[in-house]
Amino acid sequence: MRPKVSAPTDGQRSSRPGFANVTRSPLAPSRIAILGAGGFIGSHLVPALALRPGARIVAIDVAFDKLPFGLPGVERVQASIKDRGVLDAITARADIVISLTAMCNPALYNTRPLEVIDASYTDLVPLVKLCAERKRRLIHLSTCEVYGRRALRADGRPSRRMDEDRTALCLGPIHRERWTYAAAKQLLERVIWAYGRHRGLEFTVVRPFNVIGPRMDFIPGVDGQGIPRVLAAFMHALLTGEDLVLVDGGRQRRSFLYVDEFVNALLHIIDRPEPCRGQIINLGNDKNDVSIRTLARSLVCAFLAQRPNARVPRLRTLTAAAFYGEGYDDSIVRIPSMAKAVRLLGWRPHMPLTQMLPPIVADYLARYESRVARHTRARVLAPGLP
Ligand code: NAD
Ligand code: UDP
Repeated sequence: MRPKVSAPTDGQRSSRPGFANVTRSPLAPSRIAILGAGGFIGSHLVPALALRPGARIVAIDVAFDKLPFGLPGVERVQASIKDRGVLDAITARADIVISLTAMCNPALYNTRPLEVIDASYTDLVPLVKLCAERKRRLIHLSTCEVYGRRALRADGRPSRRMDEDRTALCLGPIHRERWTYAAAKQLLERVIWAYGRHRGLEFTVVRPFNVIGPRMDFIPGVDGQGIPRVLAAFMHALLTGEDLVLVDGGRQRRSFLYVDEFVNALLHIIDRPEPCRGQIINLGNDKNDVSIRTLARSLVCAFLAQRPNARVPRLRTLTAAAFYGEGYDDSIVRIPSMAKAVRLLGWRPHMPLTQMLPPIVADYLARYESRVARHTRARVLAPGLP
C-alpha cells in the first residue's frame, strides 16, 4: 500500500537537519486516513481531497452531520479514536494519517479540562507511536494556542509575530485552566517531535490561526449546547436577535483565515512530503489581524446586507469570568509569522475578512434561519426549553 522507497524521483529533500530524508514515487496515489473528518475543517478537507483523481480516503469521526454523502473514493468509519482497535486498523491501511480530532472550543477548556487533555494528548499518543512503528506519514493539526498569551522571543522580550522555531510558548498559571488545551497540544507536539528525531517518524505539525468558514461549530439550542467559538457565537446572536457579547470589551485580537485557503495549504503539505518533513508550520493570515470588536462590527454589516429589515444588533460587554466562568484566560494578540509557509509551500492567503464574511453569513442563514425561528417559537410556547 505504501509507495515504494527507491532512488530519488521528485528531487524534494528535507530542509530540517536531524530528520532522515525519504523519497517516494510521485505517481502512487496515497491512501489517506482523516481522523475528525466530520468536523468543521474535515467537512471542507474531505470533499477537496475527494475531487482528486484516484482519491482513497478513510474518514473517521464519531459524527458525520457536516460531511456530504456519496463523495467519490471516501469511506466513512463512524468510530472513536479512543478505541485502540480503530487506530490499529487505520494505521494498518493508510499511507498518510491526518489528525484533526480535538475538543477545540475555549468554553470547554476550563469546564471539561480532563476530557480536553485526553482529546488533544492522551488519545493521540498511541496514534503517534503506531505511525512511527508502521512508518506512516503523520500530518497533525496542533494549534496557534501553543504560543499562549502573546508573542515572546526566547529571551522573554516581546515580538510582533509568532514564529514556529523562535517564539517561546507562554502559557498562563496552572489555575488558569484555559491553558489545558494549549498545554496538551504542546506536549503532543513534543512527543511527535521526539518520535521524528529519535524514531524516524515522518511528520508535519500544523498550527492553524483562527480558521473560519461555513459549517463552523453549532448554533446553541439548535444543533448543540453551550458556547461555540466566536464566529458561531456571534451568528447565534444575529439569528436570534440577541446582543453580541464582547468578552472583556472585545479588545483581544485574532488573525482570521478563510477555510478554503487553509484547506489549500493542507493540500500543498500533502503534496510536498520532503520539504515539510519534520516541520512545524503556521497557517494563518497576518493581514487579517483584527480585534474581536471589529469582527463583531464587520459581521453585523455582512448580516444587515443580507437581512436589511432585521433589527440593528447591539454589542454588549461582559467579563471573561461571567461569560466563561472561573479559570478562563485569553490570548491578547496572535499574528502568525508567514515566512515558513511561504518558503516551504509557496502558499500565501489573500482573502480579506470583509470578503469571507458574506458567504459565511449566507451559509448560516441557509442552514439555521428557519430552525432558529422554530426553536424560538417553541420556547415562547414552552418557556422551560433550553
Ligand atoms: P471540530 O471540533 O469541528 O472537529 C473535530 C472533530 O473531531 C469533530 O467532528 C469531533 O466529532 C471529532 N472527534 C473528537 N474526538 C473524537 C474521537 N475520540 N474519535 C473520533 N472523532 C473525534 O474542530 P475543527 O475546527 O475542525 O478543528 C480541527 C483541528 O484543527 C483540531 O485539532 C483543532 O484543535 C485544530 N485547530 C483548529 C482551529 C480552527 O480555527 N478551526 C484553530 C486551531 C487549531
Ligand atoms: N469571544 C467574544 N464573544 C463571544 C465568544 C468569544 O468576545 O461570544 C472572544 C474570546 O474571548 C476570544 C475571542 O473572542 O478572545 C476568540 O474566541 P474563539 O472562540 O474563536 O477562540 P480562541 O480564538 O480564543 O481560540
